[in-house]
Amino acid sequence: MSKLLIRNGRVIDPASGRDEIADVLIWGGVVAAVGAGLDGRGAPVFDATGLVVAPGFIDMHAHLREPGFAHAETIETGSRAAAAGGFTSVCAMPNTAPVNDNPTVTSYIIERASRHALTNVFPIGAITAGCGGEALAEIGSMKNAGAVAISDDGRPVMNARVMRRALETALSFDLPIIQHCEDLNLSAGGDMHEGFESTRLGVRGIPGCSEDVIVARDILLAEATGARYHVAHVSTRRSTELVGQAKARGLPVTCEATPHHMSLADSDMPPYDSNYKMKPPLRSRDDVAAVVEAIASGIVDAIATDHAPHPGSEKMQEFERCPFGIIGFETALGVALETLYHAGKAPLARIVALFTTGPARVLNLDRGTLALGVAGDVTIFDPERPWTYDLNRSLSKSRNSPFDGKTFRGGPMAAVVDGAVVWRRE
Ligand SMILES: [Zn+2]
Repeated sequence: MSKLLIRNGRVIDPASGRDEIADVLIWGGVVAAVGAGLDGRGAPVFDATGLVVAPGFIDMHAHLREPGFAHAETIETGSRAAAAGGFTSVCAMPNTAPVNDNPTVTSYIIERASRHALTNVFPIGAITAGCGGEALAEIGSMKNAGAVAISDDGRPVMNARVMRRALETALSFDLPIIQHCEDLNLSAGGDMHEGFESTRLGVRGIPGCSEDVIVARDILLAEATGARYHVAHVSTRRSTELVGQAKARGLPVTCEATPHHMSLADSDMPPYDSNYKMKPPLRSRDDVAAVVEAIASGIVDAIATDHAPHPGSEKMQEFERCPFGIIGFETALGVALETLYHAGKAPLARIVALFTTGPARVLNLDRGTLALGVAGDVTIFDPERPWTYDLNRSLSKSRNSPFDGKTFRGGPMAAVVDGAVVWRRE
């Protein structure tokens, strides 16, 4: 079992409120001590002078594409890219082929991950069989096999009766239910946010209300059932308000925001550039401001990447034919630091919480903290050092990112999983 002494970093652990220069000793794969001037007892030393030492980052929303789409990503390549983004845990969405709607697929993912992944991988099971929106998936047995949540991400559960049953079932198994909020009738045919930009470019629009109406409906259903309900990739002002109101009323409603929805608007997209095409689409400037406000005010619980690899062959077609989604592991922290910290919107401790305690709480994971005895997962980052994202050197199998060539102020320096340094910036 791994041992490591991380020396002299600024240790930020939101769970304990700690923010001070200290050492972190990992022994036997778990956090053994945090404090000044620790005796490493011969453990390898990582000098973190000038760096932030945080609990391992958790990405609660990613697509690793395996099984079924290994040309876009595998558990191995995806976890490598995740580690290079500072993530030590990744949650894998179930829209693979076959869909993760039964314990055999759940176990397969866990098995593959245990042999090939650099990071921890937590599968998310489907809500409905085949993500088809009708019959419920094998929710209880997927939980027994290791699923940490259920979601039909990519597709919303449109039928309110099915959603109600799903919430009741999720509640009985104490699982959160994660919804990709999009009314398919309102969004049908759309390829970008509906507004001035879509009109200017002659592209069919996806209205903001296609998200809002599902968030509103689901909050009512969550209230009726008492289940834990989580809004994936919140992107509109109205939906952040709805989640805020639900929280104010004490409902177990949570949400996540992506780096791209907090930093890019539809007007930032070069015309017909499919590396800016995703769901929900990049929204208006006002929506982007609302997402940032919701992060600052505490409405948003987690930053999640929605890492969605697609190979170039799929992304280099006409805009309308390109699939939705962008990769996001390696740029997530850089975007968050720039948009939130350097812009004065949120302190470092809050940003760390959004990557650690926030998702850990939503998913009930015994991680995201440097408490003694917890798995020795650590993210080490530099909040200031400039670096430039070179997409051609990405560890992902895919290249669909709007951030190629962008210089960030601050980013990940190392990822430590169970006390082993699994990635380190050269
Ligand atoms: Zn989604």
